[in-house]
Amino acid sequence: MISFIGAGPGDPELLTIKGKRLIDDADVIIYAGSLVNPDVLSGHKEGAVIHNSALMNLDEVIDVMEKAEKEGKKCVRVHTGDPAIYGAHREQMDRLDALGIAYEVIPGVSSFLGTAAVLNKEYTMPGKSQTVILTRMEGRTPMPPGEKLVDLAKHHASMVIFLSIGFMDEMTAQLMEGGYEPTTPVAVVYKATWPDQKIVIGTLEDIAQKVKDAGIRKTALTVVGDFLGDEYELSKLYDKYFTTEFRQGQEREE
Ligand code: SAH
Repeated sequence: MISFIGAGPGDPELLTIKGKRLIDDADVIIYAGSLVNPDVLSGHKEGAVIHNSALMNLDEVIDVMEKAEKEGKKCVRVHTGDPAIYGAHREQMDRLDALGIAYEVIPGVSSFLGTAAVLNKEYTMPGKSQTVILTRMEGRTPMPPGEKLVDLAKHHASMVIFLSIGFMDEMTAQLMEGGYEPTTPVAVVYKATWPDQKIVIGTLEDIAQKVKDAGIRKTALTVVGDFLGDEYELSKLYDKYFTTEFRQGQEREE
């Protein structure tokens, strides 16, 4: 059984209890060394063999898994955040299916959730945006039809942009071209939840320069939308006049 584990955004205490138990029991660990905080592995067994997948191709990763399985060793594959978001995770599962090797997936805290947490923000604000778009810029790998930033910007949703911090000028230009006001608030969070985390706050007009000034070139998320501002409606869920399944609303006084 291979265990795919979401390591969370950085802070080792944001690993799930199940993920930690499996890492601590593993004989073979394959981890995404470019992004996973090595402290996440700190409880590993003495003698556990550790591979950094940043230096390996898909065949090599699968070979390590297959060998571990044949030798009856416990193998974990540790991804940053949650494996289901830009984890290149599905192709590994499909290869294991073809080999008849069983696996399980232990979810993790994605960096987009770590980012909302360190910003003290909520992506879904009543009356402002009830939709969150997770996406990336077209870079070395193309985007499917209809998914360019200009297309997605039309929705005025809360947007989280992965993997694209090197293209801030094009990113902000495309978002404005797509329909966001130049004054729309933007936050860039570098290494959310790590000790060297940095937060840069601005608008679509000035964020690119601020990010350059801060020297941020990788491992950062850009979040865009009015959810970062202070105007919104209060929720119905906790409205004292609103009746829910669990709670009777009060009568309004005339
Ligand atoms: N599976 C991961 C994402 C992998 S793609 C997840 O769920 O978070 C890698 C990109 O994720 C990075 O380029 C960066 O945009 C973002 N990222 C990962 N960890 C981050 C962190 N701690 N802070 C900010 N962005 C992060």
